[in-house]
Amino acid sequence: MKTIAEFDLPAREVYGKWKLPMVEIFETIEGEGMYQGFPTVFVRSFHCNLRCKWCDTPYSFAPAKPAFEARVDEIVDKVASFNSRRICFTGGEPLIHRQKSAALIKALADLDQIIDIHIETNGAIDLAPFARMRKRDAVLMKKMRFVMDYKLAASGESEKMITDNFNCLLNQDEIKFVIGSDEDFEQAKKVMARFHKKGQVLFSPVWETMEPRRLVEKVLADPLPQVKISMQLHKIIWDPNRRGV
Ligand code: SF4
Repeated sequence: MKTIAEFDLPAREVYGKWKLPMVEIFETIEGEGMYQGFPTVFVRSFHCNLRCKWCDTPYSFAPAKPAFEARVDEIVDKVASFNSRRICFTGGEPLIHRQKSAALIKALADLDQIIDIHIETNGAIDLAPFARMRKRDAVLMKKMRFVMDYKLAASGESEKMITDNFNCLLNQDEIKFVIGSDEDFEQAKKVMARFHKKGQVLFSPVWETMEPRRLVEKVLADPLPQVKISMQLHKIIWDPNRRGV
């Protein structure tokens, strides 16, 4: 069992100098989820503990290399140079850096102009210490949101999911099921029935193997009135393989 002290951060002057391996920082619109369409700064860190079959960001983990290393302070300065009021902290797996990930979240949330920092985590990282950090901090309670993936069979990584993470989620959080097959759809329903308590459930089609219209029809026919279909808007607006958008 991890202790609360695990993510007790030192003074900002100290953790501001901590470095993280990074892929990119850029401004675009959020392509998915509850805040889809809002101007958002994407902070993409390097490394991932999973290897999903349909991953669309393989440049964010080995054998690729980080594009650069940056101090927490440098990342915060870069984010502050944009006009967006929302941040998507993503990867790779953004929480894989543990204490350093926590430090970056705290430093970003402390920016006055930022009203939301959502963290795209893959379901295979223990959220408990991050959730405890959030509960201890009024600013984080207001701004910090998990967007937790639950990887289904077609990803090849389903057995790595930590179901206790559902206990860490609040109403402001999101749970994303990426649906690549009929089997995935059935599995997502079973997982929801067994573990889901709080947070908006999103169903997102795998671009190549689940036609969006078919996923909509299945959600309506089932029916699943509380599920939100989440399409990747950036793949409609730009070339689906284009980076940095
Ligand atoms: S968790 Fe995300 S970044 Fe990691 S392999 Fe899966 S899809 Fe790719």
